[in-house]
Amino acid sequence: MRKLIAGTGWKMNIGADATARYAARVTPLVDGFGDDIEMFVLPPFTSLHVARQAFSSSAVGIGGQNVHWDSSGAWTGEISAAMLAEAGCRYVELAHSERLEHFGETYDLVRRKVNAAIDAGLTPILCLGETAEDRQRGRADKVLEAQMTLALADQTAAQLSAIILAYEPRWAIGASAAASPDYAAERHRNLRNAVGARFGADAAAGVRIIYGGSVTSGNGAALMERIEIDGLFVGRAAWSPDGFADIAAIVARAANWRKPR
Ligand code: PEP
Repeated sequence: MRKLIAGTGWKMNIGADATARYAARVTPLVDGFGDDIEMFVLPPFTSLHVARQAFSSSAVGIGGQNVHWDSSGAWTGEISAAMLAEAGCRYVELAHSERLEHFGETYDLVRRKVNAAIDAGLTPILCLGETAEDRQRGRADKVLEAQMTLALADQTAAQLSAIILAYEPRWAIGASAAASPDYAAERHRNLRNAVGARFGADAAAGVRIIYGGSVTSGNGAALMERIEIDGLFVGRAAWSPDGFADIAAIVARAANWRKPR
């Protein structure tokens, strides 16, 4: 059974002091879920040192929101995968739509970042998502498959278990509504099939595919009713500790009812 995930990316929010307060409030609320689900927060770089300390004895892992593909060198303003690992990160988010849209990242560049992350022992959280136009033209699945194939071009089936795929439709991020459970489940199913065609049935059965894009404590349970969805990746709704705790509770409930009896 795939371990379900509740995660949040903080974007350019929650500085170091606020991180300490967030962690102090959230850890007693969510640590009880730690046996059943995997949890992570992705703070801004300058909050990582506080996050490492504050979450050190908690079930919540921490990660970076971006990484450079090179291991060191003249890359002003950038952070390497080894630096993230040294800072206590277990995860790194890659290909978030804001990186693609505002910083011109491509999936070929993302491929190099995936390689760097894996080499440093980090778990890439690889975002994949179609635009509104892709959806309207009925080519969402083709786009997701192409993004996955390009970003994972250098990976083998064995490495798939060290990667989390995040289906994040670009039109649903920071929006007023999430994808419907039916729509999201269909994308997850087709993406898993595409992983199977590329990496084989075992890799496809094992890889976690989580959903992100306007998830709230109101719509999260309906999404988690769909067994195709292995967890929730949340922005705004988890920028408060209570919000994250609500999302984690939803995922933990799904983990419980999905347990084989
Ligand atoms: C995101 O930015 O990845 C995201 C899912 O944000 P939100 O939940 O706010 O739509």
